[in-house]
Amino acid sequence: MADMTPIDTSVAPDTAAFDEVVTFTSELIRIDTTNRGGGDCRERPAAEYVAERLADAGIEPTLLERTPGRTNVVARIEGTDPSADALLVHGHLDVVPAEPADWTSHPFSGEVRDGVVWGRGAVDMKNMDAMVLSVVRAWARSGVRPRRDIVIAYTADEEASAADGSGFLAERHAELFEGCTEGISESGAFTFHAGPGMALYPIAAGERGTGWLKLTAHGKAGHGSKVNRANAVSRLAAAVARISEHPWPVRLTPTVRAALAELATLHGIHVDVHAEGFDPDGLLGKLGPAAALVEPTIRNSTNPTVLEAGYKVNVIPGLAIAYVDGRMVPGGEEEFRTTLDQLTGPDVEWEFHHREVALQAPVDSPTFAKLRAAVERFDPDGHVVPYCMSGGTDAKQFSRLGITGYGFSPLKLPPGFDYQALFHGVDERVPVSALHFGVRVLDHYLKSA
Ligand SMILES: [Zn+2]
Repeated sequence: MADMTPIDTSVAPDTAAFDEVVTFTSELIRIDTTNRGGGDCRERPAAEYVAERLADAGIEPTLLERTPGRTNVVARIEGTDPSADALLVHGHLDVVPAEPADWTSHPFSGEVRDGVVWGRGAVDMKNMDAMVLSVVRAWARSGVRPRRDIVIAYTADEEASAADGSGFLAERHAELFEGCTEGISESGAFTFHAGPGMALYPIAAGERGTGWLKLTAHGKAGHGSKVNRANAVSRLAAAVARISEHPWPVRLTPTVRAALAELATLHGIHVDVHAEGFDPDGLLGKLGPAAALVEPTIRNSTNPTVLEAGYKVNVIPGLAIAYVDGRMVPGGEEEFRTTLDQLTGPDVEWEFHHREVALQAPVDSPTFAKLRAAVERFDPDGHVVPYCMSGGTDAKQFSRLGITGYGFSPLKLPPGFDYQALFHGVDERVPVSALHFGVRVLDHYLKSA
């Protein structure tokens, strides 16, 4: 499917930006920045690629590394209003692994075929990296300056711990982000087809926190044929079952409540989401595909994922370990901790193996209104809804600098194009027309921000 949409230059940057966004997306995909975790990744070639193109346009890039090869790029574009707060626009340069045998096109080919760019990173998130780059280069060509200072950050290591990326930048280079109060980045403003004629654009205004848990059960080691009332495996299994089956209560955050209210209205359902006795599960049951946007974020969750215990069938081990993927809604951490104390009981210890804060951004802010307006200007049939991400992004690290994060990487996708399935999925790809839409929306939003 070729992109036949004519480019309206009165509401867009110059035409070169539309060619560049495709070239940049494709060429960034071809630079393999697979992050296998444990430090196994090298973002430097991709960082140099974006840095050269910023420098080309007269935007001075700073390259920063905590670990050789794990390169971040930061640049600042000065706004016209020195009294305005700065805006951070960030995108990560690394990608998750891809197995070529599973793919239609090689995941690092960056192939552009039938109006679609193919490859790992096409939606997460070399697309956004390329859109931002092509917009600011177009501005440089035509002398456009935004109102607010815009700080651009291309980060390493988002797909692992962020220790070499946004975590390092926030901890060691806070001065580069001076004046930044808000940020935009991945996982929002894509078309979510919720049914015939219902094109939603979820903009992220919050993230659940991460609480990966390690459970340790101690017991009495011994022969498998003897009576043993302190069996570590039994103790662990019982705790894991309790945690797995725990019915976490609904805890609605302002973002999720606003999402439910807007989705109910769009579906013609009359319900007061602030009323006592409001039943979110009941409403979700009536929202069809749109329920998937909200369902993972109305409560905390705990999914056991790894078990480690024992080495021989007739030997009772003295120790058993489990890992649990826990997630906490904004404001839900204290309840998460006290509930786990109760669910694990006296014989099983638990600790955070990895913990990241939850985020909550206001949906009644001028910034959210401008993000909404930018999307609706270029897709008047689309409906923006706020949502909370079930997982996390670099916004968690930047929140330590007082930066409120929104998920906003605009893409207009045709029906049948399941963005969330492509995220970390096989045959990740993005239509050229979606990139063009993103350039228009970002150009408009960033100028008016
Ligand atoms: Zn991502």
